[in-house]
Amino acid sequence: MFTMKLRKVTAAAAAALVLSLTATACGGDDNDSDTGSGSGGGDKIKIGIKYDQPGLGLKKPDGSFSGFDVDVATYVAKELGYKPDQIEFVETKSADRENALARGDVKFIAATYSINDERKQKVDFAGPYLLAHQDLLVKTDSDIAKGTDLNGKNLCSVTGSTSAQNVKNDIAPKANLKEYSGYSECIAALQSGTVDAVTTDDSILAGFAAQSQYKGKFKLAGLKLSNENYGIGVKKGDTATVDKINKALEKMVSDGSWDKAVKDNFGPANYKNEPAPKIGDIVQ
Ligand code: GLU
Repeated sequence: MFTMKLRKVTAAAAAALVLSLTATACGGDDNDSDTGSGSGGGDKIKIGIKYDQPGLGLKKPDGSFSGFDVDVATYVAKELGYKPDQIEFVETKSADRENALARGDVKFIAATYSINDERKQKVDFAGPYLLAHQDLLVKTDSDIAKGTDLNGKNLCSVTGSTSAQNVKNDIAPKANLKEYSGYSECIAALQSGTVDAVTTDDSILAGFAAQSQYKGKFKLAGLKLSNENYGIGVKKGDTATVDKINKALEKMVSDGSWDKAVKDNFGPANYKNEPAPKIGDIVQ
């Protein structure tokens, strides 16, 4: 506690006297002031998101960010004491998330990050804040309609995702699964015909399908192949941050900001989301 207080005072003094000092404080080491101490003031907070998932986490050509995860992250950061201009978004791809938290690269991750037991060995989660389901995206004229239709077909998903794991364990172990580092690469492969289907959360697939360049070309199969309970990942053992984030998420729902974020980000994709989950309520 004492060191936290000291850090607050130090940060405030630094902000007042040498504004640029905190702005130049960056790099990979592992202390709180790099990723955000939760005290606000002159600090920055680093937050992990996806960069290539329209409607969830997207880095736009002008360098700004949009998506439901971005709105959730921005709301949570506000409750932790950070204004939008104090946020530094960092790309955390599916396979990098546990390591990014362990290294202290980011204070928390809001990146379509499903809570599961394997990940809970390595990171802690706040939430859940959204329930999605694994689905398939195929070309409009495709006759792939259920999970087992994928056996013997070329399928794309992402390394380190629950989607890829579920295909191998359960949905279609005999599919020819290609694992890329991001879903945008899978979508490009679907468009070129390199793969017959892309599988991941329906929330993500709906966002891609609604992009103007893909309109009319792709369809979702409409399957609920799994339950994906999105959590906010934090460094293992950082229970103080988990508690603060849970409070922020509850407030986001109760003050209507969660509904607004859903409308703004899923409305254009016509994605029919599940109602806001209760904190700690994991749908198996
Ligand atoms: N929600 C799933 C996961 O956490 C799939 C989406 C993703 O790769 O981010 O693995």
